[in-house]
Formats: sequence, structure tokens, C-alpha cells
Amino acid sequence: MKTTDLNLLTNCWRKAVPLMVSALLCCGMSQAQSSKAVIDGIMQEETNNSQLEKLAHELFDGIGPRLVGTPQMKQANDWAVAKYKSWNIDAHNEKWGEWRGWERGISHIDMVSPRVKSLEGTQLAWSPGMGKKTVSAEVIILPDLADSVAFQQWLPKVKGKFVMISMCQPTGRPDYNWQEFALKESFEKMKAERTAATDAWRKRISKTGYTSRTLPVALEKAGAAGILTNNWSAGFGVDKIFGAYTKIIPTVDIALEDYGMLYRLSESGGKPVISMHTESKELGVVPTFNTIAEIKGSEKPNEYVMLSAHFDSWDGGTGATDNGTGTLTMMEAMRLLKKYYPHPKRTILVGHWGSEEEGLNGSRAFVEDHPEIVQNLQALFNQDNGTGRVVNLSGQGFVEAKDYLTRWLAAVPDTIKNRIKTNFPGQPGGGGSDFASFVAVGAPGFSLSSLNWSYGSYTWHTNRDTYDKVVFDDLKNNAILAAVMAYMASEDPAKTTNTKTEGIKWPVQVKATRRGGLDK
Ligand SMILES: [Zn+2]
Repeated sequence: MKTTDLNLLTNCWRKAVPLMVSALLCCGMSQAQSSKAVIDGIMQEETNNSQLEKLAHELFDGIGPRLVGTPQMKQANDWAVAKYKSWNIDAHNEKWGEWRGWERGISHIDMVSPRVKSLEGTQLAWSPGMGKKTVSAEVIILPDLADSVAFQQWLPKVKGKFVMISMCQPTGRPDYNWQEFALKESFEKMKAERTAATDAWRKRISKTGYTSRTLPVALEKAGAAGILTNNWSAGFGVDKIFGAYTKIIPTVDIALEDYGMLYRLSESGGKPVISMHTESKELGVVPTFNTIAEIKGSEKPNEYVMLSAHFDSWDGGTGATDNGTGTLTMMEAMRLLKKYYPHPKRTILVGHWGSEEEGLNGSRAFVEDHPEIVQNLQALFNQDNGTGRVVNLSGQGFVEAKDYLTRWLAAVPDTIKNRIKTNFPGQPGGGGSDFASFVAVGAPGFSLSSLNWSYGSYTWHTNRDTYDKVVFDDLKNNAILAAVMAYMASEDPAKTTNTKTEGIKWPVQVKATRRGGLDK
């Protein structure tokens, strides 16, 4: 705080050279007031005129999820650039690589025997489409066979069948629900049975001689009609939706309730038949982008403060909290900064990264492509663990982070900063999100880490990561925090240093994958 005040005086000094000491003091005061004006302005604007709900609706409901290589990802890149331009902020899409182009189409899945029931299912990302075809076929379970020889003998039986390759969960109730209501012995018994069933299923897969990655391809080659999976996310009605490995036949996640029903019917000899029609498009090789926006520095344009959040998502839901909320937090922070701090001392950048989900690729590429920015980075603030208000900030192993982060946090309104636990010097993040791409090269990247709001089970990579899970009050809190931290980092008279704490093993830089999802 002290250093900042001193700096405000120093700034004034240049303008106030011909004036007397009393005038100087006066000027110092007006600068202090202007700092207060910036922060108050940011607070007032976000409290009374937040754009977060509008942005969330446009991005999550209008454009939807942002899987790398999909037209929706590009649409979101273009939407963000247009949004920044409407706020008079320079922005552009910067190509960093290429990916398999794919677009999700419609899907209809019904059980048609022994009775009719529409099923809740989601094509995995990159699942091959069925064209205009609808296939009705029996559902069978991957059997428990002695070894890979027995599996090869059985394999021809999959021809024309839908094959279930996930275990049947013993309960669709999350553990917290059992904890609350079950008899202690029932809960213990269920957990023991589930652990045994999970182990047995793992063995069942490995005895085929394949892995969960290669098994779907083996079944496809043997003529299966499609692959059914269930990747339950340990909450009510929630599944994680990742990518398919099949090249010709569809791979579909069936929600736990329906998956269990089909499984039990098949097991009891009920020969369930489902009818499936899924569509998707292969779009060849497409370019992939980061969206970068900038408010140019007026005194030290070649030093940088960065806001950061990955823009891409998995596509079972709409990527609302992973990482739509981080994205919108940083967009809103930029809007606040442009309005109340239009001439920053240092250049303020925001990076909306592509393909974080496949390995921090957009941010790793940016670090490789922009040494001039990375070497002159004052600080970077990334947010990527859900919709919650920020409650943790680590110094990432940098010796002086404690000094400057504490100084900057001091300017953040009490209601926001008092909830934040700091950890200095902390450990350098080796992954998890895009700040790690910067930390790996010794640049001061920090994670604004959120309260979890059941992120891991209910929204992270799930089919329920949607608009309704966003907690806008917490998001407003985070937009104010990001804006004020960027403001303080920009104003700080001192350039941050990147001294690493001795004795800490530092993560190593990993190269970006510049061409992904393609065979060659
Ligand atoms: Zn994420």
C-alpha cells in the first residue's frame, strides 16, 4: 500500500513540478482519490449494471458448448471479438493450431422392447454419425470371460448388437445422500459391494486383452452396431461426457437410470432392443484459435498484466462452469477496466484459450509464440474451477509473490478479499489449468481459485454443466476481484520479479499439441 501511495505521488510529481509543496500534497490526494474512483467505479458498475447474465445467456444458451474443432468454438471466438469491439476494446483471434473438425448432430435413442421408453443418452464427443440410418438391435453386456482367447471366440457374437461396456452402478444416489439417510451398516455394505463390482469390471475389461480405449474399436471391427457406456459422475442424474474412440459406429453415454435398466433386463434374459439414430459431421482439418483482447498501456506498454481463462469446453452440457464462468469473469473484468481505467500504465491483455481440455494447448502455444509478453509479464490471473467466489490464492512458489499479491489484494473491497485465504510461497502448479503454462517457464501466473459448489461431481465435464448452475453473485464478486487485481498490478511502480523459492522442484514446460484429434 505504501509503495503504491508513493508511486501515486511520483506520478503526480511530473505534472506538478512547477507547483509548491502544498499543491503537491493536494495532487497526491487527488491521485489517491482517483484510485478510489477507479475501484468504486468498478464496484458500482458491477453491482448495478453487470452484463454477466446477458453474456451467459448469449454464450451458453445461444452458442452452446465449445469443443475444440467444432463450428461452435469458432462461433464463440467470433462472438467474443465482436463483444470486445462493442466495448471499444481491441480484440482478435490468433491461430495456434489445427484440429479434427467435428459437429454434433441430433440423437434419438429409445428402448422398443420389452416395452417402449425414450432413453436419456448423449453421443460422446467425436462419435461417428449414422447418416440417415436408424438401427434397432438387441443390447448385450460385455461378458466376463476367462481370457483374451475366450474373448476372441466370443467376439463374433457382437455383430449387429449394441454392446454395453460399463459396469452397472449399484446405486444412483450420491454418497452424501446415503450418509444422511442410510443405516450405517447399509452404507458400508453398499460401498463394499460397489468397490468389489468396480474392481471386477476393471478385470473383466483387462481380461479381454484390450483397454477401455481399444476395446470399443475391437467391438466395432467385429461388427457391433454401437457402443453404450455409462460414466456416472457420482451425483443425482449426472454423467461425464468425454470423447469416443470408435471410427464408424456411434458411442453413446446412457444415463445411469436407463443404463441400469437395460443392463438388468439383458442380464435377466429380457433381451432389450433399442432403436438409435445419431448424426454428426466430420469437417476435415480446421484451424484453432485463442481470442486475445488488449487495453494498451500508456506508460509501460511493453509490460503486461494478463487475465486468463480457457474458452473451450467438453460438450455434454454447455461448458457453463468449465469454463464459461471463468471466461465471462474475465470478459466482464475487461469491460469494467475499459470503462473506469481506460489508460492503464501497463498493457492489460486477456487470453481466452483454446483446447485447454486436451492439454492446455492454446496457452502453451501462446507461451511458445510470445516470449516478448511472457518475459515482461507483471502477473497473470487465471480462473477455471467453477462458478464459486474466489477463496484461495497461492504464490505459486515465487519468493516475492507474497509482497506484491498482498499489496494488490489490500485494494480489493473487504467483502471480497476477506474470504480469500492466501498461501505463500505456495507450490508451483504443474497443470490443471492455463496459469501452469506460464508458471512452467517461470512467469508469474496465478490461479484465482473458487469455492467448489459441487463442481467435481455435478458440473465438471458433465451433461449438467449448464446456465442454471451459474451463481451470478459469486461471478460478480470474481469480476470485481479480477479487475481490481489487474488495476493494481498495472499501477504498481515496481516490476514483479520471478525468483523461485529454493528447494522447490519446478514443473517443466510442455510443448503445445498443434495438430490434434487426427490420425496423422
Ligand atoms: Zn476447465
